[in-house]
Formats: sequence, structure tokens, C-alpha cells
Amino acid sequence: MSVEMANLVTGLRSFYRSGATKPLNWRRHQLQQLLSMTQTHQQDIVQALKLDLGKAEQESWLAEIGFLEDDINHSLKHLQKWTKPRKLSTPMVAQPGSSWLQPEPLGVVLIIGAWNYPFQLLLAPLVAAIAAGNCAVVKPSELAVHTSALIASLLPRYLDRQAYAVVEGGVQETTDVLTQQFDHILYTGGETVGKIIMKAAAEHLTPVTLELGGKSPCIVASDCDLDVTAARIVWSKWMNAGQTCVAPDYVLVEHAFADKLIQAIQNKITVFYGHNPADSDDYGRIINPRHLARLQSYLQDQDVIFGGQVDEQQRYMAPTLVRNPAIDSPLMREEIFGPILPIVSLDNIAQASDFINQRAKPLALYLYSRSESLQQQILTSTSAGSVCINDGMMFMANPDLPFGGVGNSGMGRYHGRWGFDTFSHLKAVMKRSTWFDVNWRYPPFSAGKMKLL
Ligand code: NAD
Repeated sequence: MSVEMANLVTGLRSFYRSGATKPLNWRRHQLQQLLSMTQTHQQDIVQALKLDLGKAEQESWLAEIGFLEDDINHSLKHLQKWTKPRKLSTPMVAQPGSSWLQPEPLGVVLIIGAWNYPFQLLLAPLVAAIAAGNCAVVKPSELAVHTSALIASLLPRYLDRQAYAVVEGGVQETTDVLTQQFDHILYTGGETVGKIIMKAAAEHLTPVTLELGGKSPCIVASDCDLDVTAARIVWSKWMNAGQTCVAPDYVLVEHAFADKLIQAIQNKITVFYGHNPADSDDYGRIINPRHLARLQSYLQDQDVIFGGQVDEQQRYMAPTLVRNPAIDSPLMREEIFGPILPIVSLDNIAQASDFINQRAKPLALYLYSRSESLQQQILTSTSAGSVCINDGMMFMANPDLPFGGVGNSGMGRYHGRWGFDTFSHLKAVMKRSTWFDVNWRYPPFSAGKMKLL
């Protein structure tokens, strides 16, 4: 454990204890400062994301900068309501009296971000932590080098340094920061590191929110609107070159409909990114050579029916379709987290839920179908962190919906009020009146008192 890290957390804790972070005006000011940082440095953020992931400006706006701004504005708008005591009913035995939940901040929290949306995935949890009145340490992903450096240089210029700190670095720094006692840890990333985080948190009995990943299935029934379905699958799969935790990982489709769907998807890829996506300003790059090599290895011994081209110099992999991969191949066992979409065909779409239920519970599940009964069947017979019917990823645009996994795809949730609650303790309060007091519960007990029970 480094003395420097211990001093950092001790400093934050003593500022938290001063009560300075509790007044709503103070929280509002910090949120407004974060908004101002995002607006003032929009071009710097776009540039960093371009360097890290080759993100197009519009995509950076949609999924990172605009997303964060909406989140901040939503929190500013609802802050007062969220912080109010939440009244509950009180049973007869406790009358006269009243009961409520009183949200209170947790203290000093730790937020560890992932590299794929390195701006938003680090700062959206921070918005929730600020709104709830906490101090925080944020640890950007070291793999998104430029975004990490930008956040480390900007945040202290806009937010109160006594309350918020950025710790940059990789395994060593994260291991070091995890030795400290926090009041909550929110981690976004893979399962393996999720377990490390949870073990470290257990040492201090610190509660965790784990935003993990998994293989999110995309079921396409033959009664879907083919054109819209293809557009939405291509948009949600190849945004950020497939490096999205809620991207559809694989498609399940009936044999008889597979050719039509594949053709429609290929057409949309060409409409969106041209005949050579390497030349498109709108198509991203793989984060680093290690991940590119991992993705390339998935294509070994597979039936690549579209794409598959790689340019190592550019960290480029084309939008790629694989038909009917072996179910026990790494492509179908591991989360792809890149621009490869396996198309798995089934005899009957009704087999989709069995296919999904034989695997770990996914972070998201997509179903394209007009059939209400199929929609209900899939909803009731499968489990997933979130479900989106007839679209991909759009559930993320609703701040009233919680975002989080189930089973191996994570635990806990955030976004909007759900994030506020994650970083709050909902203190249970009962207030009694003393203007009369019945002695039935006090010793000495007697048969007469028992009759009152
Ligand atoms: P990762 O798990 O390797 O890294 C994430 C963070 O953990 C980084 O900040 C990193 O510094 C830290 N870290 C890495 N190794 C560590 C160690 N040994 N000890 C302590 N800390 C360590 O990230 P990844 O696995 O490459 O990210 C991809 C995964 O994240 C995918 O599974 C994806 O689905 C998931 N993800 C989930 C969400 C979500 O919101 N649910 C969002 C993005 C990514």
C-alpha cells in the first residue's frame, strides 16, 4: 500500500466528514462545472477519442459527450426530488408515528472505468456519485491513453480537488488504490478483473457495483421489418467497431430466413460504411494490437462470409460476418467485443430461448419481431440485464431505465435516479410521537398484556 494513495483517500475522507459535499447547491455547482468542462473541451474530447478508438465525431457526441451532458442535465433537474425523504406507510402498532427513507451519501467512493467508452463510462458514474453527495476517486482505463490523460488534466481544473481525484494507471495503480477503504466501488470491465475487484472490496466489506459484459444475443424472427432490423443491427453492432458492452454479440435466426437477413445486413454495412470501411471516417479502430490479435484468432477455421480484412498498422478489422460457427469455438464461448457478428441458424425461432438459457445470463438481449406472443415468450423464458425489442442499444437513451447486468453480466445498476440510489444509503427512519404510550410491550409481562398482542 503506498503512502501517497493512503494520504489521498484520507484527505478526501476528511473533506467528506466536514459535510461540505452535502448541500444541494454545492452538488449542483460541481455538476455544472462538469458540464462546463465537457462543453468547453468538446473538441479535445473528440480528438482524444479519435486517437484512442478512431471514433467519428458524431459517434463521440452521441455515445460519450452528448450522453454525459444529458445525464448531467437530468441529474440537475431531478436532484431536489431524489434527495427528498421518501415517505412510507406505518403499521398500527407504531401509531402515532411516521416512516420514511432518507437518502444520505455513502462517503468516499471509487469508480474504475473501461476503455471502450472511456469518457462516458468513467464520468456517468461520477455524475451519480456527485449528485448523491459523495467524494470520489476515479480511475480511467490505461488502455485509452489519450482520454485518460485528458480527464486527468481537466477534472482537477473544474471540480473541487478536495472532493474528487483522478488516479491514472494500470494493474499496479489499481491494485494500490484497491488496498484503501472505500464506501462503494463501481467497476466497469471484464469478468476476470471484476472478481479481483470484489475480492479486494471484501477485505473492507465494501459494497460493489460490477458493470460487466457477456455475449448479448440478438434474435431475429422472420416476421420482423427486415430493412429497419438490418439498419438497427448494423448500427448497434458496428458502432465503435463492435467494442460495446451491449452490442449484439451473435444473431439467432431461422434457417429459412438466414439468407435474406445476411443479405440485408451486408447491404446496410455497405450503405453505412461504403465498399471499403477502412476508408470511412465513420468506422472505428480496435483499441490495441493485443485485442486485434484476439479478434483475428476468432476467425480461424470459421466460415467468414463477409469482411474479415485486417490492417494491423491501422488497428483495423472490417465489419465481418461468420456463418454457423462451431458452438464450442472461442468465437461462441467468449465475448467477442469487436466487429465480428456470428449468424447462428436454428430450425425454429422458438429454440432461441433454450440456446440462450444454456449460456451465462447476458447484459442485453435483443429481439426483432412483430409477434406479441414471441415477445412475451422470450421476455418470460430468458434472463438478461436489459431487453430491447425491435431495436439495439436504444434502452440506454432512457435515463429512467436502470442499466446493469444479472448473473455473470454484473450486479447493481446505475443511470439517472438508479445511479443516485446506488451511491446513497437509503436510511430507514421511524419517528414516533410521545403524546400517549401503551405499556403492552414493556416488562413485566402478564396474561392481560398478552391479550393485547
Ligand atoms: P478490464 O477489465 O481489463 O479493465 C477495466 C479496468 O480494470 C481498467 O481500469 C483496468 O486498469 C483495470 N484492471 C485491469 N486489470 C486489472 C487487475 N489485474 N487488477 C486491478 N485492476 C485491473 O477491461 P476489459 O476486460 O478489456 O473490458 C472489456 C469488458 O468490459 C467486456 O467484457 C465488456 O463487456 C465490459 N464492459 C462492460 C460495460 C458495462 O457498462 N457493463 C461497459 C464497457 C465494457
